Amino acid sequence: MTESAPKPVREIRINPIVPSESVLVATARGMRPKKAEAPAPRDTRAHVETCPFCTGNEHMTPPVIASYPAEKNWEIRIVENLYPVLGDDRSNPNLTFGLQQTIDGYGRHEVMIDHNQHGIAIHEMSEPHLALLFGAYRDRMQQLYRSNSRLRYVLVFKNFGPAAGASIAHTHSQVIATPVIPDNVQAEVTNSRAFYHKNHHCIFCSLIDEALTFEATIYDRESGEIRRKINVGQYVIERAGKFIAVKPFASRYEWEVHILPLQHQSDFLRISRDDLNDLARVMRRTMARLDAVLGGAQYNYFLHSLPHDIQCEDCEASYHWHLEITPRTSIPTGFELGSGLFVNTVAPETAAEKLRAVQLD
Ligand SMILES: [Zn+2]
Ligand SMILES: [Zn+2]
Ligand SMILES: [Zn+2]
Repeated sequence: MTESAPKPVREIRINPIVPSESVLVATARGMRPKKAEAPAPRDTRAHVETCPFCTGNEHMTPPVIASYPAEKNWEIRIVENLYPVLGDDRSNPNLTFGLQQTIDGYGRHEVMIDHNQHGIAIHEMSEPHLALLFGAYRDRMQQLYRSNSRLRYVLVFKNFGPAAGASIAHTHSQVIATPVIPDNVQAEVTNSRAFYHKNHHCIFCSLIDEALTFEATIYDRESGEIRRKINVGQYVIERAGKFIAVKPFASRYEWEVHILPLQHQSDFLRISRDDLNDLARVMRRTMARLDAVLGGAQYNYFLHSLPHDIQCEDCEASYHWHLEITPRTSIPTGFELGSGLFVNTVAPETAAEKLRAVQLD
């Protein structure tokens, strides 16, 4: 029951959670030259003799931190990062003056080898494996938060494919624990809390409710005539019992998709076994849709969860954890870098429709 053929869109959409992050959705041809050249193909080999992350080369990695299900028959392996961006040792105290401020680069930077098969993509992994992977994220975040009270945030993310900045072809995620809460997470926490104070409701839950409302009619206040009829359900990409994948109305990236628990939950660390299985299903199917539409998705994804040790009483009620998936199909232009305004050349409604149309097994 969608409307007729998509009309060209040219509007600035305000991110409902972080209003300062607005997006110019402009589907007209003129906004398109930023398309990246055909991205370098990703490595799809199952095993590579010289790869330090491949089975048989365990001695080539930095020390192992954990392996699943066990080191001798590992499917997932966490190791130290050879080139950590943050580390243990206090950096030499720099002499700073005036407005130059620094914080010690204290933290942790680890690599999670997602799978023992070199070039396997997320949608090619089994659902039990994906449940194991997200369980490994949860466990490691938990351990890192417990290991040192100076760690304020643990960020789990994945770069997949050369277009997304993956420097090692073997499928892997990264875990970075930092002594500061990243700005974008803080902005989400602060804004969702303000919304909660005003509306006594979690904004993420409200957005999910809205996504699950199938039709909305907007009437003109004066004449009472129908001004606009919208099919709000058009943003849902995938849904299971406990999770939903949605295309944000103000997506920064053409094929950006977010996955959220349907029931309110602020902290990813609370995810249960059952939840993991359900998440694995939504994740695999969403990635398969992206891969089919894009003809091989290269992407980043990252987990946003309530920071620990945050001085905030109602954040448990106002914040809602989620996974943001941002496929890379274009490179930012001077306009975007200069204005801070993201440009999205595919209307989120159109993108969602294409993703939903993919036939899965
Ligand atoms: Zn490998
Ligand atoms: Zn919520
Ligand atoms: Zn987020």
